Amino acid sequence: MTTARDALRRHLKARWETGDKELFVVRDPASPARRHAPPPSSPHPAAPTGRSEGGSGLHASGILSPANSERGRSLLAWYEEIKNCTKCPLGSSRVTFVFGTGNPNAELLFVGEAPGEQEDRSGLPFVGLAGQLLTRMLGEQGIRREDVFICNVLKCRPPSNRPPAEEEIAQCAPSLAEQIKRIGPKLIVALGRFAAQTLLHSDEPVGRLRGRWHPWEGAELRATYHPSAILRNPSNRGILEEDLKIVKERLASLHV
Ligand code: URA
Repeated sequence: MTTARDALRRHLKARWETGDKELFVVRDPASPARRHAPPPSSPHPAAPTGRSEGGSGLHASGILSPANSERGRSLLAWYEEIKNCTKCPLGSSRVTFVFGTGNPNAELLFVGEAPGEQEDRSGLPFVGLAGQLLTRMLGEQGIRREDVFICNVLKCRPPSNRPPAEEEIAQCAPSLAEQIKRIGPKLIVALGRFAAQTLLHSDEPVGRLRGRWHPWEGAELRATYHPSAILRNPSNRGILEEDLKIVKERLASLHV
């Protein structure tokens, strides 16, 4: 029988193996050490952790400073148009519509699968464990989250994090395509099977789709593994790392 202790051990091992060396200990609230400890600082400062209309420039939609550019305003208009979507049952079960976050003028855009529990609560994509791994791996390549745009195939969380259903993808895919066109990135990274197959209209596995650039509406698309897959199987970290490095090099080559 799997005990909570086994599950915790597996979870911590996976975090450690994927490079997360910042594990913190939760103490008994009565412990005097806790009363005198400074508040923990975020180990992932580049990842927005909540929505505000404040000075950070992060609009409630998740878009950074949308009023400052033509693309930002166009993207915000698209958010306003679709944010109350109830075309599928996820529209009624979600806590928050997770539109996507980042720079509306981004040259590099990432597409994941669907919001998980933390994303559903915060309204921002990739803020849970998989998101923290993605943020770390982007950082290792010198890519800052605030310079890119990150969104998902589905804007609403499937209950219990089950995989997206075909009908849900069919409802959401046109909105995603419109969102990407309004941003107009030069490079797109499809993270995992659902993003890769949806954007490429393919049923090939990621292992077969990765390793080359695919044309996508005037942009170039690279398929790679989803960070959740790396959390499940840390020995594949090098593959995602290699793909992100290729993406970073391509991005740099656009500016020479
Ligand atoms: N996985 C995804 O595909 N998207 C998220 O936002 C979080 C986890």
